Amino acid sequence: MIRTIGVLTSGGDAPGMNAAVRAVTRAAISNGIVVKAIYRGYKGLIDGEVKTFSTQDVSGIIPHGGTILKSARCEEFRTIEGRQQAYETIQRENIDALIVIGGDGTFTGGRMLSQEFHVPVIGIPGTIDNDLWGTDATIGYDTALNTIMRCVDTLRDTATSHERVFLVEVMGRDAGFLTLNAAIASGAEAAIIPERATIMEQIEEAIGQGRRKSKNSSIVLVQEHAIEGGAQAVAKLIAQAHPEYSPRVTILGHLQRGGSPTAFDRILASRMGVAAVQALMDDQQNIMVGLHEDEIQYVPLSKAIQIKKDVKEDKWGALKVLSI
Ligand code: ATP
Repeated sequence: MIRTIGVLTSGGDAPGMNAAVRAVTRAAISNGIVVKAIYRGYKGLIDGEVKTFSTQDVSGIIPHGGTILKSARCEEFRTIEGRQQAYETIQRENIDALIVIGGDGTFTGGRMLSQEFHVPVIGIPGTIDNDLWGTDATIGYDTALNTIMRCVDTLRDTATSHERVFLVEVMGRDAGFLTLNAAIASGAEAAIIPERATIMEQIEEAIGQGRRKSKNSSIVLVQEHAIEGGAQAVAKLIAQAHPEYSPRVTILGHLQRGGSPTAFDRILASRMGVAAVQALMDDQQNIMVGLHEDEIQYVPLSKAIQIKKDVKEDKWGALKVLSI
């Protein structure tokens, strides 16, 4: 029986993580379960940075981006010695199960801890990348998408006033979801993502789109890891092949991560937090809470991590058709 749960946020912060922490805390307490908040992700688990939460500890946090629990990347946790230390904290604090909010790295670490030390782990997908299989959306993705869209809308004013190619670098780790969807939403001429064709083909295509429109300027969204060096590297390639385009680069960087979560992310995080606690009460473990067709679903952590989620072909097609 689960009497005490630990909750942490890990990896890159994402808007809506606070809403998830709030939901986990309140759902657990309302079911008579003690909540121990772990600060700074797996680093805090190793160092024993733990605080028992009351419902008041999560008051007023739902509108805020970032995470009140702080997040950290923790190299030590990648080693068995590090995870052993984390387990010692779990034992000392009488934690029966962990809810980890983060991305695939967070889930990989959580799964290892669970396999080695038999601690039930539930994952809540909190990452702006939306790169996890088993859920239509991850917490933070919708907010980041809207932030990028607004930035590109602003850039459009300058782009239309000058005869240039504007390259906008977008985050996403190995996934192009943010880039492709932001390109559609902002009416960009093209997107360059890791999932499609070679980089040179995509660049030629992007330039071609601008030409077909017989426009002198165009906006192209570039996924940060579509090519080593990101948008700057793409700019160099364009400048070499087509010096007349005089490419300009905007790197949105960490602007994409912050900000007040959208209603969608707040609701998603709230539902997932409640569902994670419910899963533990139903004796489930090593699963991720996902959302599919507006229904909560549970998928094995192993699948969420290992199966690659594909970008939708129709979106790729739509971007091309709509930018003529
Ligand atoms: P985001 O998608 O926002 O980057 P993430 O959860 O994938 O989030 P990572 O930095 O990859 O972010 O992982 C977070 C933490 O999870 C790492 O700092 C590390 O402590 C742990 N972790 C990641 N990969 C592993 C692994 N292979 N083994 C053990 N722990 C891991």
